[in-house]
Amino acid sequence: MTGTSETGSRERGAAEPARRSPTWPTGASRVVGVVGDPIAHSLSPLLHNAAFDALGLDWVSVAFPVAAGATVAALEGMRALGIAGLSVTMPHKEAAFAAVDETTDVARRLGVVNCIAWHEGALIGDCTDGEGLLAALRRAVRFEPTGKRCLVVGAGGAARAVVLALADAGALEVVVVNRTGARAEETAVLAGDVGRVGSEADVGAADLVVQATPIGMTRSDASSDDLPFDPGALHAGQTVVDLVYHPVETPLLQAAAARGAQAVTGIGMLVHQAALALEQWTRQPVPVEAMWAAVEEHVPR
Ligand code: NAP
Repeated sequence: MTGTSETGSRERGAAEPARRSPTWPTGASRVVGVVGDPIAHSLSPLLHNAAFDALGLDWVSVAFPVAAGATVAALEGMRALGIAGLSVTMPHKEAAFAAVDETTDVARRLGVVNCIAWHEGALIGDCTDGEGLLAALRRAVRFEPTGKRCLVVGAGGAARAVVLALADAGALEVVVVNRTGARAEETAVLAGDVGRVGSEADVGAADLVVQATPIGMTRSDASSDDLPFDPGALHAGQTVVDLVYHPVETPLLQAAAARGAQAVTGIGMLVHQAALALEQWTRQPVPVEAMWAAVEEHVPR
Protein backbone atom coordinates (compact mmCIF):
# COMPACT_ATOMS: atom_id res chain seq x y z
CA MET A 1 0.00 0.00 0.00
CA THR A 2 1.34 3.44 -0.80
CA GLY A 3 2.10 6.15 1.69
CA THR A 4 1.83 4.38 5.02
CA SER A 5 2.96 7.39 7.08
CA GLU A 6 0.78 7.96 10.13
CA THR A 7 1.66 11.63 10.44
CA GLY A 8 -1.77 12.85 9.40
CA SER A 9 -3.46 12.95 12.78
CA ARG A 10 -3.70 16.76 12.90
CA GLU A 11 -7.11 18.13 11.96
CA ARG A 12 -7.17 19.99 8.69
CA GLY A 13 -7.54 23.67 9.31
CA ALA A 14 -6.03 23.44 12.79
CA ALA A 15 -2.57 24.52 11.65
CA GLU A 16 -1.80 28.15 10.86
CA PRO A 17 -1.46 28.49 7.06
CA ALA A 18 2.27 28.74 6.42
CA ARG A 19 2.08 31.80 4.19
CA ARG A 20 -0.50 33.90 6.08
CA SER A 21 0.89 37.38 6.61
CA PRO A 22 -0.51 40.92 6.39
CA THR A 23 1.49 41.51 3.21
CA TRP A 24 0.43 38.35 1.35
CA PRO A 25 -1.20 37.65 -1.02
CA THR A 26 -0.49 40.84 -2.95
CA GLY A 27 -1.96 42.29 -6.10
CA ALA A 28 0.70 40.40 -8.00
CA SER A 29 -0.19 37.00 -6.54
CA ARG A 30 -1.80 34.62 -9.03
CA VAL A 31 -5.02 32.93 -7.96
CA VAL A 32 -6.23 29.44 -8.90
CA GLY A 33 -8.95 27.37 -7.30
CA VAL A 34 -11.49 24.61 -7.31
CA VAL A 35 -15.22 25.03 -7.94
CA GLY A 36 -17.81 22.61 -6.62
CA ASP A 37 -20.62 22.04 -4.16
CA PRO A 38 -19.95 20.85 -1.52
CA ILE A 39 -16.35 22.07 -1.56
CA ALA A 40 -15.35 23.04 1.99
CA HIS A 41 -13.45 19.78 2.55
CA SER A 42 -11.77 19.67 -0.86
CA LEU A 43 -8.11 18.68 -0.74
CA SER A 44 -7.34 20.56 -3.97
CA PRO A 45 -6.16 23.82 -2.32
CA LEU A 46 -3.86 21.82 -0.03
CA LEU A 47 -2.34 20.02 -3.04
CA HIS A 48 -2.04 23.16 -5.17
CA ASN A 49 -0.56 25.31 -2.38
CA ALA A 50 1.97 22.61 -1.44
CA ALA A 51 3.19 22.66 -5.04
CA PHE A 52 3.36 26.47 -5.13
CA ASP A 53 5.37 26.50 -1.89
CA ALA A 54 7.81 23.92 -3.24
CA LEU A 55 8.19 25.87 -6.48
CA GLY A 56 8.55 29.22 -4.68
CA LEU A 57 5.69 30.63 -6.77
CA ASP A 58 3.60 33.59 -5.60
CA TRP A 59 0.39 31.71 -6.40
CA VAL A 60 -2.48 30.77 -4.12
CA SER A 61 -5.30 28.24 -4.45
CA VAL A 62 -8.72 28.57 -2.82
CA ALA A 63 -11.97 26.60 -2.80
CA PHE A 64 -14.93 28.41 -4.38
CA PRO A 65 -18.38 27.13 -3.37
CA VAL A 66 -20.41 27.30 -6.58
CA ALA A 67 -23.96 25.99 -6.56
CA ALA A 68 -25.40 23.78 -9.30
CA GLY A 69 -26.62 25.96 -12.15
CA ALA A 70 -23.95 28.63 -11.64
CA THR A 71 -21.18 27.03 -13.73
CA VAL A 72 -21.35 29.55 -16.55
CA ALA A 73 -21.33 32.45 -14.09
CA ALA A 74 -18.29 30.92 -12.35
CA LEU A 75 -16.42 30.70 -15.64
CA GLU A 76 -17.33 34.30 -16.45
CA GLY A 77 -15.88 35.14 -13.04
CA MET A 78 -12.72 33.25 -13.96
CA ARG A 79 -12.40 35.34 -17.13
CA ALA A 80 -13.17 38.67 -15.42
CA LEU A 81 -10.95 38.08 -12.39
CA GLY A 82 -8.04 36.60 -14.31
CA ILE A 83 -8.07 33.38 -12.31
CA ALA A 84 -5.15 31.41 -13.70
CA GLY A 85 -6.67 27.93 -13.50
CA LEU A 86 -9.64 26.07 -12.08
CA SER A 87 -10.23 22.52 -10.96
CA VAL A 88 -13.82 21.48 -11.53
CA THR A 89 -15.69 18.98 -9.43
CA MET A 90 -19.28 17.89 -8.82
CA PRO A 91 -21.79 19.12 -9.92
CA HIS A 92 -20.06 21.18 -12.63
CA LYS A 93 -18.06 18.78 -14.78
CA GLU A 94 -20.58 18.50 -17.61
CA ALA A 95 -21.70 22.14 -17.58
CA ALA A 96 -18.08 23.28 -17.60
CA PHE A 97 -17.47 21.09 -20.64
CA ALA A 98 -20.18 23.05 -22.45
CA ALA A 99 -19.00 26.45 -21.18
CA VAL A 100 -15.26 26.45 -22.01
CA ASP A 101 -13.92 27.75 -25.33
CA GLU A 102 -12.11 24.56 -26.33
CA THR A 103 -11.70 21.03 -25.04
CA THR A 104 -8.99 18.40 -25.26
CA ASP A 105 -9.58 15.13 -27.07
CA VAL A 106 -9.98 13.23 -23.78
CA ALA A 107 -12.52 15.74 -22.45
CA ARG A 108 -14.49 15.51 -25.70
CA ARG A 109 -14.62 11.71 -25.57
CA LEU A 110 -15.80 11.82 -21.95
CA GLY A 111 -18.06 14.86 -22.23
CA VAL A 112 -16.72 16.35 -18.99
CA VAL A 113 -13.88 18.56 -17.79
CA ASN A 114 -12.14 18.47 -14.41
CA CYS A 115 -9.71 21.31 -15.02
CA ILE A 116 -9.60 24.53 -17.01
CA ALA A 117 -6.49 26.35 -18.20
CA TRP A 118 -5.83 29.46 -20.23
CA HIS A 119 -4.21 29.09 -23.63
CA GLU A 120 -3.76 32.13 -25.88
CA GLY A 121 -6.74 33.92 -24.35
CA ALA A 122 -9.08 30.91 -24.49
CA LEU A 123 -10.32 28.64 -21.72
CA ILE A 124 -9.34 25.03 -22.43
CA GLY A 125 -11.14 22.20 -20.64
CA ASP A 126 -9.39 18.91 -19.98
CA CYS A 127 -10.04 15.79 -17.91
CA THR A 128 -6.93 14.57 -16.07
CA ASP A 129 -8.60 11.88 -13.92
CA GLY A 130 -7.69 8.89 -16.10
CA GLU A 131 -4.08 9.94 -16.70
CA GLY A 132 -3.90 10.78 -13.00
CA LEU A 133 -4.76 7.21 -12.09
CA LEU A 134 -2.19 5.80 -14.53
CA ALA A 135 0.51 8.07 -13.07
CA ALA A 136 -0.48 6.98 -9.56
CA LEU A 137 -0.25 3.30 -10.52
CA ARG A 138 3.19 3.83 -12.03
CA ARG A 139 4.44 5.59 -8.91
CA ALA A 140 2.92 3.11 -6.45
CA VAL A 141 3.60 -0.26 -8.09
CA ARG A 142 5.11 0.45 -11.55
CA PHE A 143 1.93 -0.84 -13.15
CA GLU A 144 1.71 -0.33 -16.95
CA PRO A 145 -1.63 -1.21 -18.59
CA THR A 146 -0.09 -2.42 -21.88
CA GLY A 147 -1.20 -6.01 -22.51
CA LYS A 148 -2.94 -6.26 -19.13
CA ARG A 149 -6.42 -7.52 -18.22
CA CYS A 150 -8.17 -4.68 -16.38
CA LEU A 151 -11.50 -4.70 -14.58
CA VAL A 152 -13.33 -1.56 -13.50
CA VAL A 153 -16.19 -1.71 -10.97
CA GLY A 154 -18.58 1.21 -11.55
CA ALA A 155 -19.72 3.20 -14.56
CA GLY A 156 -19.89 6.78 -13.26
CA GLY A 157 -17.68 9.73 -14.11
CA ALA A 158 -14.56 8.36 -12.45
CA ALA A 159 -14.98 4.89 -13.95
CA ARG A 160 -15.48 6.32 -17.45
CA ALA A 161 -12.26 8.35 -17.25
CA VAL A 162 -10.35 5.28 -16.04
CA VAL A 163 -11.80 2.95 -18.71
CA LEU A 164 -10.81 5.38 -21.47
CA ALA A 165 -7.29 5.88 -20.10
CA LEU A 166 -6.66 2.13 -19.67
CA ALA A 167 -7.78 1.38 -23.23
CA ASP A 168 -5.75 4.28 -24.66
CA ALA A 169 -2.72 2.98 -22.76
CA GLY A 170 -2.92 -0.40 -24.50
CA ALA A 171 -4.81 -2.65 -22.08
CA LEU A 172 -5.53 -6.13 -23.46
CA GLU A 173 -9.08 -5.88 -22.16
CA VAL A 174 -11.13 -3.53 -20.01
CA VAL A 175 -14.04 -5.27 -18.31
CA VAL A 176 -16.76 -3.07 -16.81
CA VAL A 177 -18.83 -4.39 -13.91
CA ASN A 178 -21.70 -2.20 -12.75
CA ARG A 179 -24.98 -2.41 -10.86
CA THR A 180 -26.91 -0.88 -13.75
CA GLY A 181 -26.25 -2.88 -16.91
CA ALA A 182 -27.10 -0.13 -19.40
CA ARG A 183 -24.53 2.20 -17.86
CA ALA A 184 -21.95 -0.60 -17.94
CA GLU A 185 -22.59 -0.98 -21.70
CA GLU A 186 -22.16 2.75 -22.33
CA THR A 187 -18.94 2.81 -20.35
CA ALA A 188 -17.45 -0.31 -21.94
CA VAL A 189 -17.95 1.31 -25.37
CA LEU A 190 -15.35 3.93 -24.38
CA ALA A 191 -12.72 1.18 -24.48
CA GLY A 192 -13.54 0.28 -28.09
CA ASP A 193 -12.52 -3.20 -29.22
CA VAL A 194 -10.96 -4.10 -25.86
CA GLY A 195 -14.02 -3.13 -23.80
CA ARG A 196 -16.77 -5.47 -22.62
CA VAL A 197 -19.33 -5.77 -19.86
CA GLY A 198 -18.47 -8.39 -17.28
CA SER A 199 -19.42 -9.65 -13.86
CA GLU A 200 -17.87 -10.38 -10.50
CA ALA A 201 -16.77 -13.75 -11.93
CA ASP A 202 -14.14 -11.85 -13.98
CA VAL A 203 -12.32 -10.51 -10.91
CA GLY A 204 -9.96 -13.46 -10.50
CA ALA A 205 -8.57 -13.19 -14.05
CA ALA A 206 -7.82 -9.47 -13.87
CA ASP A 207 -4.28 -8.10 -13.51
CA LEU A 208 -5.74 -4.78 -12.33
CA VAL A 209 -8.99 -4.20 -10.44
CA VAL A 210 -10.20 -0.59 -10.12
CA GLN A 211 -12.96 0.08 -7.58
CA ALA A 212 -14.81 3.19 -8.84
CA THR A 213 -18.05 3.24 -6.81
CA PRO A 214 -18.59 5.05 -3.48
CA ILE A 215 -18.85 1.69 -1.66
CA GLY A 216 -16.47 1.66 1.32
CA MET A 217 -16.64 5.42 1.91
CA THR A 218 -16.44 6.84 5.44
CA ARG A 219 -16.61 3.54 7.31
CA SER A 220 -13.32 1.85 8.12
CA ASP A 221 -14.51 -1.51 9.47
CA ALA A 222 -14.44 -4.45 7.06
CA SER A 223 -18.09 -5.50 7.18
CA SER A 224 -19.37 -7.09 3.97
CA ASP A 225 -21.67 -4.09 3.37
CA ASP A 226 -18.58 -2.04 2.65
CA LEU A 227 -17.26 -4.31 -0.10
CA PRO A 228 -18.20 -3.86 -3.77
CA PHE A 229 -17.70 -7.59 -4.47
CA ASP A 230 -16.63 -10.74 -2.66
CA PRO A 231 -12.84 -10.31 -2.29
CA GLY A 232 -12.37 -14.09 -2.12
CA ALA A 233 -11.22 -14.15 -5.76
CA LEU A 234 -8.39 -11.66 -5.18
CA HIS A 235 -4.89 -13.09 -5.10
CA ALA A 236 -1.17 -12.34 -5.19
CA GLY A 237 0.02 -10.92 -8.50
CA GLN A 238 -2.97 -8.60 -8.86
CA THR A 239 -3.09 -4.85 -8.31
CA VAL A 240 -6.21 -3.46 -6.65
CA VAL A 241 -6.87 0.27 -6.52
CA ASP A 242 -9.79 1.84 -4.70
CA LEU A 243 -10.73 5.34 -5.88
CA VAL A 244 -12.43 5.99 -2.54
CA TYR A 245 -9.96 7.83 -0.30
CA HIS A 246 -12.10 8.51 2.78
CA PRO A 247 -11.02 6.37 4.53
CA VAL A 248 -7.68 6.02 2.76
CA GLU A 249 -7.36 2.33 3.58
CA THR A 250 -10.78 1.02 2.61
CA PRO A 251 -12.23 -2.38 3.50
CA LEU A 252 -11.54 -3.56 -0.07
CA LEU A 253 -7.87 -2.54 0.13
CA GLN A 254 -7.54 -4.26 3.49
CA ALA A 255 -9.07 -7.43 2.04
CA ALA A 256 -6.86 -7.22 -1.08
CA ALA A 257 -3.69 -6.80 0.97
CA ALA A 258 -4.71 -9.70 3.23
CA ARG A 259 -4.97 -11.91 0.14
CA GLY A 260 -1.53 -10.89 -1.14
CA ALA A 261 -2.60 -8.44 -3.85
CA GLN A 262 -0.90 -5.06 -4.23
CA ALA A 263 -3.27 -2.48 -2.74
CA VAL A 264 -3.14 1.12 -4.02
CA THR A 265 -5.08 3.93 -2.36
CA GLY A 266 -7.23 6.52 -4.14
CA ILE A 267 -5.02 9.33 -2.86
CA GLY A 268 -2.62 8.72 -5.76
CA MET A 269 -5.23 9.52 -8.40
CA LEU A 270 -6.20 12.64 -6.47
CA VAL A 271 -2.60 13.86 -6.26
CA HIS A 272 -1.66 13.07 -9.85
CA GLN A 273 -4.80 14.49 -11.50
CA ALA A 274 -4.08 17.71 -9.60
CA ALA A 275 -0.43 17.64 -10.66
CA LEU A 276 -1.43 17.30 -14.31
CA ALA A 277 -3.74 20.33 -13.97
CA LEU A 278 -1.00 22.36 -12.27
CA GLU A 279 1.39 21.54 -15.09
CA GLN A 280 -1.05 23.12 -17.53
CA TRP A 281 -1.51 26.24 -15.37
CA THR A 282 2.12 26.91 -14.43
CA ARG A 283 3.73 25.42 -17.55
CA GLN A 284 6.53 23.94 -15.51
CA PRO A 285 7.36 20.55 -13.97
CA VAL A 286 5.27 19.99 -10.85
CA PRO A 287 6.81 18.80 -7.54
CA VAL A 288 4.52 15.80 -7.08
CA GLU A 289 6.47 14.54 -4.06
CA ALA A 290 5.77 17.81 -2.20
CA MET A 291 2.07 17.27 -2.90
CA TRP A 292 2.30 13.72 -1.57
CA ALA A 293 4.06 14.99 1.55
CA ALA A 294 1.27 17.52 2.16
CA VAL A 295 -1.36 14.79 1.91
CA GLU A 296 0.54 12.49 4.23
CA GLU A 297 0.89 15.28 6.78
CA HIS A 298 -2.68 16.52 6.71
CA VAL A 299 -4.99 13.66 5.71
CA PRO A 300 -5.87 11.08 8.36
CA ARG A 301 -5.59 7.53 7.12
P1 NAP B 1 -20.81 8.58 -9.88
O1 NAP B 1 -20.65 9.26 -11.18
O2 NAP B 1 -21.95 8.96 -9.00
O3 NAP B 1 -20.88 6.99 -10.15
C1 NAP B 1 -21.07 6.09 -9.11
C2 NAP B 1 -20.99 4.66 -9.63
O4 NAP B 1 -21.02 3.80 -8.49
C3 NAP B 1 -22.14 4.25 -10.53
O5 NAP B 1 -21.66 3.37 -11.50
C4 NAP B 1 -23.09 3.55 -9.58
O6 NAP B 1 -23.84 2.52 -10.18
C5 NAP B 1 -22.14 2.90 -8.62
N1 NAP B 1 -22.73 2.74 -7.29
C6 NAP B 1 -23.09 3.71 -6.42
N2 NAP B 1 -23.59 3.18 -5.30
C7 NAP B 1 -23.58 1.82 -5.47
C8 NAP B 1 -23.97 0.73 -4.67
N3 NAP B 1 -24.48 0.92 -3.44
N4 NAP B 1 -23.81 -0.51 -5.16
C9 NAP B 1 -23.28 -0.70 -6.39
N5 NAP B 1 -22.89 0.29 -7.21
C10 NAP B 1 -23.03 1.55 -6.75
O7 NAP B 1 -19.51 8.77 -8.99
P2 NAP B 1 -17.99 9.03 -9.48
O8 NAP B 1 -17.76 10.48 -9.65
O9 NAP B 1 -17.69 8.12 -10.61
O10 NAP B 1 -17.16 8.60 -8.17
C11 NAP B 1 -17.12 7.27 -7.73
C12 NAP B 1 -16.19 7.18 -6.52
O11 NAP B 1 -14.87 7.50 -6.91
C13 NAP B 1 -16.56 8.17 -5.40
O12 NAP B 1 -16.38 7.54 -4.17
C14 NAP B 1 -15.57 9.29 -5.57
O13 NAP B 1 -15.28 9.95 -4.35
C15 NAP B 1 -14.35 8.53 -6.07
N6 NAP B 1 -13.45 9.35 -6.87
C16 NAP B 1 -12.15 9.40 -6.49
C17 NAP B 1 -11.23 10.14 -7.23
C18 NAP B 1 -9.80 10.17 -6.81
O14 NAP B 1 -9.06 11.06 -7.25
N7 NAP B 1 -9.36 9.21 -6.01
C19 NAP B 1 -11.67 10.85 -8.37
C20 NAP B 1 -13.02 10.77 -8.73
C21 NAP B 1 -13.90 10.01 -7.97
P3 NAP B 1 -25.16 2.78 -11.07
O15 NAP B 1 -24.67 3.14 -12.43
O16 NAP B 1 -25.87 1.48 -11.00
O17 NAP B 1 -25.89 3.92 -10.38
